[in-house]
Amino acid sequence: MLLTSNQRKHHLELSNFLKTGGNEVIVQPTGFVYRVDFGPGVQPQIHYVGKDKVCTCQLGADCPAVTAVRDYLLAGGQKSQTPEQPGFTATMPAICPICGSQTHHEPRLGNKQRGVGWVCEQGGEKHYYRARTAALKKLPRREWLVPPVYDTAGSLLAAGVPLWE
Ligand SMILES: [Zn+2]
Ligand SMILES: [Zn+2]
Repeated sequence: MLLTSNQRKHHLELSNFLKTGGNEVIVQPTGFVYRVDFGPGVQPQIHYVGKDKVCTCQLGADCPAVTAVRDYLLAGGQKSQTPEQPGFTATMPAICPICGSQTHHEPRLGNKQRGVGWVCEQGGEKHYYRARTAALKKLPRREWLVPPVYDTAGSLLAAGVPLWE
């Protein structure tokens, strides 16, 4: 990402401040996001970082608050709430996890909780529901950016992408 001069200045200020170890940075999960408090001396003092590792401030993904949240979680910090249901499909599978046929996007089956809907060329929406049920059953208790996909026999077809690696 190319930063504007104003953003660069802001980024430098924040990074320098963090390097000096001025105040203790306080990270708190609040709802679906993390609230990062840099303490007085940093403008803006409070930053909000989403699970997508993007800060709501003008620096977005380049904000040091994103690093602060990562460190907080690596240190065993508490996670923010997950807006998505388990089994959420962030991306459509290129092939049907049930029979390996081509899939087509089907907006009717998708929604905010389920993610992207699709139908199978062979099995139609039946395979969508079967794949969904299988994924829900196998989903480990952790948060995923992209949940792993399993076939009905329980073999892993596509590795998931955890929110924080
Ligand atoms: Zn920020
Ligand atoms: Zn199928």
